[in-house]
Amino acid sequence: MVRPPADNAAARDQVTTASAELFRRAAASIPGGVNSPVRAFSAVGGTPRFIAEASGCRLTDVDGNRYVDLVCSWGPMILGHAHPQVVDAVRAAAASGLSFGAPTEAEVALAEAIVDRVEPVEQVRLVNSGTEATMSAVRLARGFTGRAKIIKFAGCYHGHVDALLAQAGSGVATLGLPTSPGVTGAAAHDTLVLPYNDLAAVEGAFERYGDEIAAVITEAAAGNMGTVAPLPGFNAGLRDLCDRHGALLILDEVMTGFRVSAAGHYGLERVPADLFTFGKVMSGGLPAAAFGGRAEVMDRLAPNGPVYQAGTLSGNPVAVAAGLTTLALAGPDVYAALDANSERLQQLITQALSAAGVAHRIQSAGNLFSVFFLGPDDDPDRPLLDYAAVQGTQTWRFAPFFHALLAGGVYAPPSAFESWFVSTALDDDAFAVIADALPAAAAAAAGAREDH
Ligand SMILES: *Cc1c(COP(=O)(O)O)cnc(C)c1O
Repeated sequence: MVRPPADNAAARDQVTTASAELFRRAAASIPGGVNSPVRAFSAVGGTPRFIAEASGCRLTDVDGNRYVDLVCSWGPMILGHAHPQVVDAVRAAAASGLSFGAPTEAEVALAEAIVDRVEPVEQVRLVNSGTEATMSAVRLARGFTGRAKIIKFAGCYHGHVDALLAQAGSGVATLGLPTSPGVTGAAAHDTLVLPYNDLAAVEGAFERYGDEIAAVITEAAAGNMGTVAPLPGFNAGLRDLCDRHGALLILDEVMTGFRVSAAGHYGLERVPADLFTFGKVMSGGLPAAAFGGRAEVMDRLAPNGPVYQAGTLSGNPVAVAAGLTTLALAGPDVYAALDANSERLQQLITQALSAAGVAHRIQSAGNLFSVFFLGPDDDPDRPLLDYAAVQGTQTWRFAPFFHALLAGGVYAPPSAFESWFVSTALDDDAFAVIADALPAAAAAAAGAREDH
């Protein structure tokens, strides 16, 4: 089919001099030129695009290139960028004062909206980032149980909390070692890192440390090692083990919350955690996040209880307005559209890769998904269940795949270990741009060399 040239620049026309110049300038005053590492394109190389503006499903960079956005600010923008009603709500809130350091009605409404959607959540505290949410949930779990140890899973990301940066060096239960300089042994000492989807390993850890374990924290569905869904019964099994040993279950829904269903991953599996953490979608693209759970547990927080937690800007009225409006607009039609767009995108990707003879596997958890490149002997029907498995895929095919997409006007996540995010704003034109870009991307993946 002959299509008129898309409004995004074709590969040979894409100029990136303004982004490159800004990246050079940024590197002088900002470490690595970015305020969050993955933005630097380290895993894929090349020039990170500096974004000038965004609307709906499209980003425009400072050189005027347009891209169909499949990152959505790493999740928040389910309605697309600059949604008129969200922008209006933010504008109105801003005009009424940016921050008071005193309670407001809107933050009560946002807490109620979250409580309404996620049944086991009886009370919510608002914070400013997902990192703060998980850090506070862990502190609360320790304060509630009077225990120190935390179980987390290799490949799960819970923000840059010291105690949660620890990862396993192998597929067996290990005492966590600090994986970042600056995280002290003391901070990581009480973190047990286990392989994801391995209930037997969790059972073993509880047998050994049962009455010292305050909590198990897990992504409700892992999306930060690429998408790795929990096996059926895994989260429920964690619930059961926590009950048997008096530990709390913390389901981190910062990525999945209010994206994969109206009630997040909880809506798909109905595993009642003691504490949930939220972020991303619930603040509509502004900095806010939350943790919440059973009233009995949440009641231990100051000022009612002794576990201290606070924030100068927590419940910020502008961020709350963006979150409240986003959730108010996110009805059943929105979730149906996200699911349909995700399905359509997965079909296009798999068709293009198959046509180019690239062995691959797309894994999903609700409408989250990611693309893994396999070796010729790997069974594409066999799920990749943990961090070791996804690390064993042909990740070196990803950079050329990514760059061909980018050159074709498609902004995919710049790492093989990230999930792809759809919005409701993806339209037929956007899918046409994606369909046009994919054959070259698939060919680039097919032609990749490991030493590339
Ligand atoms: C993004 C994310 C976080 C961290 O949230 P920030 O707002 O970046 O601090 C925590 N947990 C999960 C599952 C996430 O995806």
